[in-house]
Amino acid sequence: ASKLPGTVLHLYEESQRHSIEKELEVLTLFASALKNKEFFPMLQPKVDIQTREIIGFEALARWESAEIGFVSPAIFIPVGEKTGNIHKVDRAILKSVLAWQRERKKQGKRLFPVAVNISANHFYYPDFVENIEKLIKEYEMDPKYLILEITESIELENVSYAKRNICQLRDIGIATSMDDFGVGYSSLSYLQELPFEEIKIDKSFTDSIAEPRMHAVVKTIIQLAADLEMKSVAEGVETEAQHQELKKIGCNIGQGYYYYKPMKLEEVDLLLLQYEED
Ligand code: C2E
Ligand code: CA
Ligand code: CA
Ligand code: CA
Repeated sequence: ASKLPGTVLHLYEESQRHSIEKELEVLTLFASALKNKEFFPMLQPKVDIQTREIIGFEALARWESAEIGFVSPAIFIPVGEKTGNIHKVDRAILKSVLAWQRERKKQGKRLFPVAVNISANHFYYPDFVENIEKLIKEYEMDPKYLILEITESIELENVSYAKRNICQLRDIGIATSMDDFGVGYSSLSYLQELPFEEIKIDKSFTDSIAEPRMHAVVKTIIQLAADLEMKSVAEGVETEAQHQELKKIGCNIGQGYYYYKPMKLEEVDLLLLQYEED
């Protein structure tokens, strides 16, 4: 449910009183930013942990405002959520990704699955799956090149609804990924009930993987994912040591600055030249 814009301020008032003015400005500019198409995706490669080959990407929303310059997702995503507009950002990013894929296809280039973030609130729109299906058709995209990342903030009463959506998406060939696994709503039971294709282990786990207790937790999550026939993706891999550890415990996919930072679409096209014809 959308809330009044006033609640946005509440998010920041304790820690960032000084930035309230900036918040208000962001709020005011947000609507025109959507109209002026100021949101665009950067893509961060996901790699096979064993071979370090690129196997796909995650699309991350960026906003470069004509008035105030670059605005961090940490600011504009909560603003979008609180004002009930986040679905418009999600869709703008999705459309840009689909347009990019269509162009690559037209040029005979190799396609890779791209994961797009869907805010939990957007995921529960009654016509969500239908709208995704329409977009896929409109852009003539093979659904196997799209993954939807849904943050693990599914409240208990919504589990059956989430399950229905995930199954419907799977039926039309679109994979879903449980984002930020392990933070927020706790969820081992959701894992067995919700047929995600992939779980993303939050960066906070990757960060602490050298600690023996955390190591045991991550190892168990990865094993559980494998037993449930889901792929495991570790987010925020920054060091060789983290990479080696994740590789050892059988994590399937890695993502993080250690491999690649998020890149503009043109940079991705250049990077992918080495992946043509092999
Ligand atoms: P997320 O889905 O957990 O995405 C991963 C975040 O970690 C991204 O931050 C990414 O740039 C960052 N990251 C990746 N590798 C590393 C690393 O090695 N070290 C560090 N320190 N950070 C790394 P970003 O791009 O700032 O996005 C923040 C969050 O905003 C995302 O977290 C996601 O929840 C949300 N978001 C981004 N784009 C969208 C979107 O289009 N729609 C929605 N609803 N949310 C989005
Ligand atoms: Ca994500
Ligand atoms: Ca997230
Ligand atoms: Ca995360």
